[in-house]
Amino acid sequence: MSDCLFCKIAAGEIPSDCLYQDDQIFVFRDIDPQAPVHFLVIPKEHIASAACINKTNSGLIAHAFEVIANLAEKMELDGFRIVSNVGERAGQSVQHLHFHVLSGRDMTWPPG
Ligand code: 5GP
Ligand code: ZN
Repeated sequence: MSDCLFCKIAAGEIPSDCLYQDDQIFVFRDIDPQAPVHFLVIPKEHIASAACINKTNSGLIAHAFEVIANLAEKMELDGFRIVSNVGERAGQSVQHLHFHVLSGRDMTWPPG
């Protein structure tokens, strides 16, 4: 999508602190980290949110989670949280599916 911030980041048109990428997935550090480790995992293809996951794109989502597991091992994360906000009420501010991965501090439950 031409006017989507995360499509532009995934295409390298807007700079980011990239941790990993392959043909399907792009991973970069959040610009406003909420934990000592806070990165975002996005599909390169534009998908608006986790509410748009379906039979056609679910393989890509499974791959995203495999990438998260591999990165967590490589970065030796001592516990981590995966969050995906869906819709305005849940706090989604960028309309391109992203998984937040947070680590490096104790976390509370339930989230706010
Ligand atoms: P949401 O609020 O939609 O769940 O998450 C969007 C996230 O994108 C926020 O945590 C925000 O800090 C991050 N973000 C917004 N704009 C940029 C940007 O230009 N670069 C990076 N690296 N992160 C961004
Ligand atoms: Zn997009």
